[in-house]
Amino acid sequence: MRAALFCAWLLVLGVGCGNAFAQDTAAAEAAHRAAVLAHLPPDAAQRVFGRELTPVAGLPQAIGAYERGCLEGAVALPADGPNWQVMRPSRNRAWGHPVLISFLERLAQQLPVEAGWPGLLVGDIAQPRGGPMLTGHGSHQVGLDADIWLTPMPSRRLSAAERDEMPATDVVAADGNDVDEATWTPQHRRLLEAVAREPGVARIFVNPAIKRALCRAAGTDRGWLTKMRPWWGHNYHFHIRLSCPSGQPECRSQVPPPPGDGCGKELDWWFTPEARHPPSRPAKPLLLADLPPACGRLVAAP
Ligand SMILES: [Zn+2]
Repeated sequence: MRAALFCAWLLVLGVGCGNAFAQDTAAAEAAHRAAVLAHLPPDAAQRVFGRELTPVAGLPQAIGAYERGCLEGAVALPADGPNWQVMRPSRNRAWGHPVLISFLERLAQQLPVEAGWPGLLVGDIAQPRGGPMLTGHGSHQVGLDADIWLTPMPSRRLSAAERDEMPATDVVAADGNDVDEATWTPQHRRLLEAVAREPGVARIFVNPAIKRALCRAAGTDRGWLTKMRPWWGHNYHFHIRLSCPSGQPECRSQVPPPPGDGCGKELDWWFTPEARHPPSRPAKPLLLADLPPACGRLVAAP
């Protein structure tokens, strides 16, 4: 059922569906890309940005909004670091704004001490020039969003094949009402709290059941819960969104989340039939003309 929900959400965002998931294996991902490509108009932004294999050099610029923009001067998170490993490397989505990449590197190294979390398995960040993707995301377009697996990093280095094939850990119970006690640990809570307390983080997207567990476990110091935003899916990974860095005039920030811990009525809604069966509208792909003009110049660059 969660697959259907995620699909509906993708349609709402105009991303298209085809049952694409962040945790898909390389073969499933390739099949979804081919299926999406077969139906897209030639000037669809997903098609144009999805075929770019290299970044555009230059001063790093996050251009536009998280779900409607692109990225100049991207850098790649190295496949391996002291406390991280990049997953699904064949997707070529480990590119990001340098501010996000250095944030992830620093975060990964402080988490073992801060949260008892051994390191980050990093999922999709952005394409070499940002922009909409053929599969899986409405946002991740300006290089300030990153998906982090809810699987703790193993103590050994995974092979490239393992990174493309290894299944991710689902921490939500089958009925979607709460976390799965078999896979959810206190370290998950500490990890998410540590990330939320980072000043550059604007929002973190998690499954509503995860937010429910965080609300239940938090004590009186609850300010960090504001950034924890319930969203469909996000049961295999969570999504970190940074605020627009300074000196980025073309980066469009999002209004801050409403004040409060978001644990009351707002969270309850996510468990209603209305939330579980959102209306699905026909997918309307973003065209290049829907993005800021600077994005058109970015894909035309060599
Ligand atoms: Zn994401």
